[in-house]
Amino acid sequence: MHDTRCRPAVLVHGGAGGSRQDEDGCVHAAESAMAALQRGEDALAAATAAVVTMEDDGRFNAGSGSVLCLDGLTVEMDAAVMDSRGRLGAVACLQGVKNPILVALAVAATPHWLLCGEGAERFARTRGFAHHYAVSEKSRNRHRQLIAQLHTDAAATYDVDNQEFMRFWNYDKPISAAVATPCDTVGAVTRDIQGNFAVAGSTGGSAPSLLGRVGDTPIVGSGFYAGPFGAVAVTGLGEHIVRHLLAHTVYQAIAGGMPLALALQQGLDRFDAQIDIGLIAVSRTEAGSRSNRSMPTALMTDDR
Ligand code: ASP
Repeated sequence: MHDTRCRPAVLVHGGAGGSRQDEDGCVHAAESAMAALQRGEDALAAATAAVVTMEDDGRFNAGSGSVLCLDGLTVEMDAAVMDSRGRLGAVACLQGVKNPILVALAVAATPHWLLCGEGAERFARTRGFAHHYAVSEKSRNRHRQLIAQLHTDAAATYDVDNQEFMRFWNYDKPISAAVATPCDTVGAVTRDIQGNFAVAGSTGGSAPSLLGRVGDTPIVGSGFYAGPFGAVAVTGLGEHIVRHLLAHTVYQAIAGGMPLALALQQGLDRFDAQIDIGLIAVSRTEAGSRSNRSMPTALMTDDR
């Protein structure tokens, strides 16, 4: 008789531009996900477990490590989950929770797929998520550097004049006294023993940005996609990623039979080398990553 079971796989990233020295955080997250798969939990539960671990780590731009907005006070977070069984949930511009990925998972059980801002936060409270506000020392330092850079001529974000942020300023407070920050958003893709695929991603967004800015991370087909042929997670500059519907474009290539490494490379090749981009993907038989920056990752498979 045929063994129809699939080899479970987990692949986690810590963001395009993230430090390889933080790779142990990805390994820890991959271990959480693999433990969930080995307990018999499905691909979505495993991808979510990996991202919770990354959000709690504090070194990555997600959850407790999220970057500060330009006012030096606000933290706006985006997160999303999707699986090949049709579950889809996301939050955007969410404030005041510890694990946005768990709120995104809770949104997947509602009649909607995406909640944002105040409505997302109220939803989180009704689902029992306690208020949480924490800013890491790394985020405070980044913010100080960023504000300093915005007062120079060195563009803080690719192809955008620093003055644009002053021109469209929409925070309550004036800019105080404010280095392109790396895009160390987090993401995970998983394959479970039944052959289901899932993706989960979470970010504090990209800095500098105006209040209410949303990138690719919670946008289906741009920052993430999962279907019967695999799962893809993307990191990098959201304003550019959304224009290529990058996660879905790469997914379609994999679904069409292209080797996974080539599909990832073709996705990366769509972008100017100055734009931070990173991708991870898992298919029925493969898993891999590509980035034009340093990108911490961890891959784990269960070969038993
Ligand atoms: N893609 C994220 C965004 O633009 C940032 C990142 O990947 O680090 O919000």
